[in-house]
Amino acid sequence: MRLEIVKYPAPILFEKAKPVTEFDGKLKTFVENMFDTMYAASGLGLAAPQVNESTRIFVMDCSAGKDSNQRIALINPQIIEVAGEQNGDEGCLSFPGFFEKVSRANQVLVQYQDIDGKEHRLESVQLTARCILHENDHLDGKVFIERMSPIKRSIISRKIKKLVKQGEW
Ligand SMILES: [Zn+2]
Repeated sequence: MRLEIVKYPAPILFEKAKPVTEFDGKLKTFVENMFDTMYAASGLGLAAPQVNESTRIFVMDCSAGKDSNQRIALINPQIIEVAGEQNGDEGCLSFPGFFEKVSRANQVLVQYQDIDGKEHRLESVQLTARCILHENDHLDGKVFIERMSPIKRSIISRKIKKLVKQGEW
């Protein structure tokens, strides 16, 4: 089932999300719905606050459905280590139509729980690392324009205000 994606500046996008404590059927259904929503919107990642749930969950698939090994749900993720730097275009399902250069770490080691509550560690580089850092920011109430220069940020927020006024956002 597809869920509704909330757009910037919905207040939930600025809240710190709460940890998941119950690894039950409800969680499994929610995670499945998150995958359905992400694929339907052609996104590589989706965090729970983007579908109006302030919990520490995100799903991702940097192969966009081509490699089932890359379809991963990360619950209560924790960034253990980052290294290097990359600068590349980034988009966000809560900012449809906006793609901007964002600087991120190039390597990430993340610890997380799967839908059964089992702990895992994942080492990633480049696009997958970018995706993990972007989605993890959502769980801390941070959106990607906050990783941009103040000028770029104000240009985007002005454009969005205009779109809202025109009823196109
Ligand atoms: Zn996003």
